[in-house]
Amino acid sequence: MATLINSLLSHEQSAHLAEQVMAYCDELAHISQTLGIIDRRYLTPEHKQANDKLAQWAAQSQLQHWEDEAGNQWIRLPAQQQDNLPHEAPRVIMGSHTDSVPDGGRYDGPLGVVGPLVLLKHFAESRVQFPFHLDVVGFGDEEGTRFGSTLLGSSAICGMWQSRWRELTDENGVSLAQAMYDFGLDVSKVSEAQIDSSRVLAYLETHIEQGPVLEERGKPLAAVKGIAGARRFNITLKGQAGHAGTVPMVLRHDPLVIASHWITQVQQMATATSDSEFPVVATVGRLEVRPGAVNVVPGEVRMSLDIRSLSDEARDAVFDSLQELLEVEAAFHQLECQFEPTHNASAVSCNDEMTRSLNQLVTHYFGDSAPLVSGAGHDAMALAMRVPATMLFVRCKGGVSHHPDESIMTSDAAAALQVMAAFVTDIARKAT
Ligand SMILES: [Zn+2]
Repeated sequence: MATLINSLLSHEQSAHLAEQVMAYCDELAHISQTLGIIDRRYLTPEHKQANDKLAQWAAQSQLQHWEDEAGNQWIRLPAQQQDNLPHEAPRVIMGSHTDSVPDGGRYDGPLGVVGPLVLLKHFAESRVQFPFHLDVVGFGDEEGTRFGSTLLGSSAICGMWQSRWRELTDENGVSLAQAMYDFGLDVSKVSEAQIDSSRVLAYLETHIEQGPVLEERGKPLAAVKGIAGARRFNITLKGQAGHAGTVPMVLRHDPLVIASHWITQVQQMATATSDSEFPVVATVGRLEVRPGAVNVVPGEVRMSLDIRSLSDEARDAVFDSLQELLEVEAAFHQLECQFEPTHNASAVSCNDEMTRSLNQLVTHYFGDSAPLVSGAGHDAMALAMRVPATMLFVRCKGGVSHHPDESIMTSDAAAALQVMAAFVTDIARKAT
């Protein structure tokens, strides 16, 4: 395996390549459909420009590149020629998304695309090859900002594209089918973007953490063991509005008091799971009080609940207890109580073996940093349904994401590059 001799990165090499990663992220950040902010949505001229930019960077290092039928951009370091290689070589894929939310940051998505792209350029220039195609993919849509449905790009390559999506429209009434046509694609051919999952040895998505845990730990990286499943509810509590001066305390049916007590129980019950195998996080993020006047006892409260865990069972057990608590309290105080489900997504586990080897590499280079659970959705959710998938989280400043203040350190990008290189080298060693 002479071709693998240079596949690991020295500290100096990774530091040098990380400068390139940061510069590419800056350059992509300039491709925006809205002046002065980062705003890059699916199937827009700016999406096309971002794809062209990736292709241009790939071509500079003689890497193969193409755009698929869903508008995802691919870059390939071809497998080394081997006499005993099957007709079509296996693939290892690294990637993330190139779209952004409006007024987003420059690393959420692009880091996981240009990071591996810079690595492939380095491999190509150092004449490193692997016994598999090493592919980078930039998914056109993960955020779902334009058409309201997320993971469009990764769903297409996993064969999970739904035909009804062609009817989705953006804020200007443009259908997805029309947007594809304008982009130069044909919606009736999206199924051709599907890849043969049996040939994929691994999918690795590198992404900013979007949370504060790594910063708190003082670690640059952690492997990700899974993506939390989330349920959301709109909750309505109806009582009796009344005059703040004339209704005696003992005769009130004030839903805000009951809601307030319940919200502290949401916090306490979720916190109690913190040290368990499957912690639950729960949030009441919206609270509306009606009529909402300074001199009126509230008559109605509407609030939201978002509850997540890597274990659907653990999450549902906490939710069931919380629902029962509120219903019993409401009945006792003669309030009407209603839970309306608005979202339900199952948890997705990353591939155990991939995550274990990724975690070993993180530990080898940077000391112990236990695998994390992602509370946010990622393209890896779609990939994990079809291929051995895992994720690498990179520390980000203050845990801030989806915001122009998103920030990472160049040395953390270097750390990620070192681990990515070691990860593909590991797979190559096991494959030969
Ligand atoms: Zn993202």
